[in-house]
Amino acid sequence: APGKCATMPTAQALEAEKTLIHVLWINAGLSCDGDSVALTAATQPTIEEIALGALPGLPQVAVHWPLIDFECGPNQGADDFLEWFFRADRGELDPFVLVVEGSIPNEALHDEGYWCGFGNDPATGQPMTTSMWLDRLAPKATAVVAVGTCATYGGIHAMEGNPTGAMGVPDYLGWDWKSKAGIPIVCVPGCPAHPDNMSETITYLLYMATGQAPMIPLDDQLRPVWLFGTTVHEGCDRAGYYEEGDFAHEYGSPKCLVKLGCWGPVVNCNVPKRGWINGVGGCPNVGGICIGCTMPGFPDKFMPFMDEPPGGKLSTSMVRGYGATVRTLRHITGHTVNREPHWRSKGAQLTSGAKR
Ligand code: SF4
Ligand code: SF4
Ligand code: SF4
Repeated sequence: APGKCATMPTAQALEAEKTLIHVLWINAGLSCDGDSVALTAATQPTIEEIALGALPGLPQVAVHWPLIDFECGPNQGADDFLEWFFRADRGELDPFVLVVEGSIPNEALHDEGYWCGFGNDPATGQPMTTSMWLDRLAPKATAVVAVGTCATYGGIHAMEGNPTGAMGVPDYLGWDWKSKAGIPIVCVPGCPAHPDNMSETITYLLYMATGQAPMIPLDDQLRPVWLFGTTVHEGCDRAGYYEEGDFAHEYGSPKCLVKLGCWGPVVNCNVPKRGWINGVGGCPNVGGICIGCTMPGFPDKFMPFMDEPPGGKLSTSMVRGYGATVRTLRHITGHTVNREPHWRSKGAQLTSGAKR
């Protein structure tokens, strides 16, 4: 097919390409749709490559995603779009991957009304709340993926003092919950989640669902370990300045941003390594402090933003003395290695030390 890789596909890959897997995306948690918008910028792979099966061994994929689904258009019946979700509820779609965007409010906290929903129940004409959808679809899904920090851990809507009792999907379904295929909830946090982290995780699960990849490795916060196993600081372009105790005190400086409020040393996120879009950007690399948006403690534990992290005061004062010393020594060494060796000169005399 056009766009397919020229390598020889395995029999398993050929078999997998005949399988149809539905991806049902619910963005009706407490959400700003930022993760959906971010996914449109994915490059490794792109959402088009996933939807069109342009990767070897990828099954056929039917993506039911409110952001771009033509069945959601102004001249289309939203009922057509929602019917895919009702079909899944009736057990007529199998296999499917359920993707949840947005935090789950606690509907048990009020006597009437609802916090958020997704279409109406044809049986009652009443709104289907997001938690109803989770109750109905999660047991039937091959895998459940939470995208964005709202869906994974509650995020901004779950801040202290919020009225909705918002929580992440693992808080709602249970941290030990497993799908009928034995797969734990897969969390791809970030506010928004990194586009390629989302598209890569979905791709991994599609390969896994067709027997072409082992069980997805997750850490104890249910994040893919290969994506969230290192800190922002470990991948930051400015880490050399930190090591030399050389800190920025105003925006626009190329130096380490810890004094301006960067939490990178303790935050699990690959954005500085990966860049934001197509390898370009990555918060501290381009001058933005890391506010810990991928973390379960976000946002409360990182506030007030733009204040130096409490731990940063101690670590920077420790590194300052060491850093100033090595910086001085490196200046001396740098001065030496910035000069050519003395024997490179014109004249009748060979001064390189070679024996003649
Ligand atoms: Fe929006 Fe951030 Fe929540 Fe995603 S995690 S829905 S980008 S507020
Ligand atoms: Fe670490 Fe942040 Fe400084 Fe980068 S800017 S080196 S992540 S503290
Ligand atoms: Fe969020 Fe920090 Fe990663 Fe930027 S570097 S995406 S602020 S966790």
